[in-house]
Amino acid sequence: MSELTVIVPCKNEEEAIPLFYDELIANTSFLEKRGIGLKVLFIDDGSDDGTVAAVRALHERDERVHLISFSRNFGKEAAMYAGLSASDSDYTVIMDADLQDPPSLLEEMFGYIDEGYDSVATRRVTRKGEPVIRSFFARRFYKLMKKMSDTEIMDGARDYRLMTRQFVDAVLAMTEYNRFTKGIFGWVGFETKWIDYENVDRSAGKTKWSFWGLVIYSLEGITAFSTKPLVLSSLIGIFFCIVAFLMVIFIIVRRLVFGDPVAGWASTVTIIVFVSGVQFFCTGILGQYIAKAYLEVKKRPLYLKNEKNCF
Ligand code: UDP
Ligand code: MG
Repeated sequence: MSELTVIVPCKNEEEAIPLFYDELIANTSFLEKRGIGLKVLFIDDGSDDGTVAAVRALHERDERVHLISFSRNFGKEAAMYAGLSASDSDYTVIMDADLQDPPSLLEEMFGYIDEGYDSVATRRVTRKGEPVIRSFFARRFYKLMKKMSDTEIMDGARDYRLMTRQFVDAVLAMTEYNRFTKGIFGWVGFETKWIDYENVDRSAGKTKWSFWGLVIYSLEGITAFSTKPLVLSSLIGIFFCIVAFLMVIFIIVRRLVFGDPVAGWASTVTIIVFVSGVQFFCTGILGQYIAKAYLEVKKRPLYLKNEKNCF
């Protein structure tokens, strides 16, 4: 019998978990008709509330519910990777615990799998209920990403995605430490069907993302899927070489024509300060990539399990 594994990354979601479970069960009766079994795999990403207890309570009622618990918070990226590695099903889906990824879409998603797609992805076409500044920068990020990277990353894309075995294996083959799953999904290719839906508010609890957290995450995305910033720093370098060359010619000509009056101290200092600023900027970009490479070569594990709380 084939099986669907639902991966649910959870960081402090004790209130949301029971609501999520009820909603999921209410929307997955179609699986039985198709002869597909269900497995719900919660990933406890270092929660310090009653998340483990909430999942354990569900497990006691329903043995299809399982938990992988981390030794500390490793982030949603690590949680998704842990879930995908643990899934041995034919179909796998990733869903947030807060019901912002509506389980009611699952049946439609399976329809597209029947049509031969290897992944069915979702994206929000509205961002209502989200802070205005956050939406603004999110849109800018996707625009920038489109220009900088060859890998397609959809505006409003969620991590909510139904995948076939072949797709999951491809994602798992990418073992990088600095994970940006939205980019990885695009990178692996295969035929993907996109489903649009309106943003849904969180069912309970509150978001784990701060504004700065998102800014850093977006820089992560850019450095993981584009090397254009390095090209940019080279271009800035070339530009300043040309400017400097023109200035040298200007100075030589002026010397020959007007002699050599000592002037221009202020402009000299301004130029020095400006150019060294640009140098720091470019070294910074370089540093970002070196830091990423440094973390990659260390080959640290993406997550550590706390076996006591895994079932
Ligand atoms: N999450 C996680 N680890 C983290 C942060 C978040 O596993 O370090 C989970 C969280 O429990 C939720 C999902 O990732 O199920 C999405 O998080 P959230 O709803 O806070 O993000 P938002 O929907 O506001 O972007
Ligand atoms: Mg959410």
